[in-house]
Amino acid sequence: MSSSTTESRRRVVLKLSGEALRERGSTDNISPEIVDRMATEVKEAVSSGNLELGIVVGGGNFWRGAAASARGMDRATADYVGMLATVMNALALQGALEDKGVTCVVQSAIEMKNVAETFIRRKADRHLSEGRVVIFAAGTGSPFFSTDTTAALRASEMSADVVLKATMVDGVYDSDPKKNPDAKRYDRVSYKECLSKQLKVMDATAFSLCMDNHIPIVVFDLAPVGNVRRALVGEDIGTVVDAG
Ligand code: UDP
Repeated sequence: MSSSTTESRRRVVLKLSGEALRERGSTDNISPEIVDRMATEVKEAVSSGNLELGIVVGGGNFWRGAAASARGMDRATADYVGMLATVMNALALQGALEDKGVTCVVQSAIEMKNVAETFIRRKADRHLSEGRVVIFAAGTGSPFFSTDTTAALRASEMSADVVLKATMVDGVYDSDPKKNPDAKRYDRVSYKECLSKQLKVMDATAFSLCMDNHIPIVVFDLAPVGNVRRALVGEDIGTVVDAG
């Protein structure tokens, strides 16, 4: 945790996939109602004053570089498109948070000064210390990475206590729960076990960054109403991945 924060405050990086902002089955890329719900949950969690919150948003509700590249597009170009997609999500979320009175800054890894601050680590750290929510947009700013890796990177740079990965499954399983009805969900599992059993938590780059920097990862299901708030305030939810 940053030296400028009090002991009781918890610094968290929440990773929200782009799909989290889309209504399942809808053709709209962003659902204003879902964005509003996310913002409500974030507001409830930050209003305790014990939380310093950075949010990394994905862009998969609009675009994924790897998928476009598989269909013939140059990968780096496709990835830049993907990074720009994350900025749209970030602005939508910022708007909803500000509507609810949550002070929120978007920092973009690709300079876009009419709509967002440019990512500057020390400034982001200051915003967090002073209680502002920071949304990290445009991924790492480099192609060939993911927003999971962005979350792990920003968490490492910001000395976060944990990465919360909000996703479509309720934790980490010993096998694919969609294929194996007997798959067992872990409440807690070590980095080592994830590696030896090749359990899917985050992509390899993101996972290594968290492991090397001793940052626990909590994988949880974002769909049930209240889960994002629960994860943010540190309730037992999903699976904790740590050194064991
Ligand atoms: N992306 C990138 N570099 C980064 C982060 C993201 O090139 O540091 C691109 C990549 O094309 C990716 C897209 O942005 O597919 C959207 O991000 P991601 O797939 O991680 O979004 P999510 O699946 O979380 O919605």
